[in-house]
Amino acid sequence: MINKVGVVGAGQMGTGIAHVAALAGVDVTLSDLSMERAEGGKSLIEKNLHRQASKGKIDDALVQAALGRITLADDLSAHGSDDLVIEAATEDEAVKTSIFKALCPVISSETLVASNTSSISITRLAASTDRPEKFIGMHFMNPVPVMKLVELIPGIATADETFERSLAFTKALKKTPVISEDFPAFIVNRILMPMINEAIYTLYEGVGNVESIDTAMRLGANHPMGPLTLADFIGLDTCLSIMQVLYEGLADTKYRPCPLLVKYVEAGWLGLKSGRGFYDYQSGDVPVPTR
Ligand code: NAD
Repeated sequence: MINKVGVVGAGQMGTGIAHVAALAGVDVTLSDLSMERAEGGKSLIEKNLHRQASKGKIDDALVQAALGRITLADDLSAHGSDDLVIEAATEDEAVKTSIFKALCPVISSETLVASNTSSISITRLAASTDRPEKFIGMHFMNPVPVMKLVELIPGIATADETFERSLAFTKALKKTPVISEDFPAFIVNRILMPMINEAIYTLYEGVGNVESIDTAMRLGANHPMGPLTLADFIGLDTCLSIMQVLYEGLADTKYRPCPLLVKYVEAGWLGLKSGRGFYDYQSGDVPVPTR
């Protein structure tokens, strides 16, 4: 049983994972680089829980109980007594391996470690820890409270028991697991990201503008949101990292990141989280296309 879970990284994904775990009755320790960031994450969780309550999905007592289960930290030693620690920090292999190097010595040898990486090799991340057999990929989807899927990705060394315990935990969170082999970007992003990258090429080459590309895919392919809106929502830095992992990991030029995506990330235009991406989110209630 996983009764205590740690989440490292209080960004979009870490807060979502902490949110669903706390709602499921699990004690959560949420850590980030500073208390300020961790507190920002908890404020976001509080806002999202209240939104669910206002829609009648959960009651106010549950909101308070869930918030009471979340402890904040700016130090990895706070994860000392967790049964499972899920790393949900920035999609950068060096960042993730440095977290595992610092985390492993301060947690129990029994603690399972998972990464929410969207694309990086679970086998390689596992090899940077002292417990490859207790390491697994648990890839939640954004926004976590809404999206039902979790991709479970065993690395080459992952023990059956680790897989079974993370499978049971996924089900306890009322999520639907899908098993993916450990190849670059797994299943969802192997298919989704090249489509988003192609939408950015379509913009870059002037085939359509932001609005026409998104409208075309919403109404022509029946997608619930256009690919450029989705890219802004995921975060353009995350999209670029995933394309780089596909490009390098599969050594195929069909995965080359669009130069326009690179340019946006260089500019710090990362999408919704930075206030500007393919849309400007700062000029009013309705996002304004930037091209
Ligand atoms: P984000 O930028 O919103 O949050 C990342 C957080 O990690 C930030 O709060 C940052 O301060 C923190 N962080 C960075 N270095 C750290 C460190 N050394 N120690 C502790 N915290 C640290 O990013 P996100 O969208 O939440 O993505 C997080 C992970 O989840 C990535 O691996 C990403 O690929 C994956 N993911 C993202 C999505 C998505 O749609 N955004 C979906 C599934 C998985």
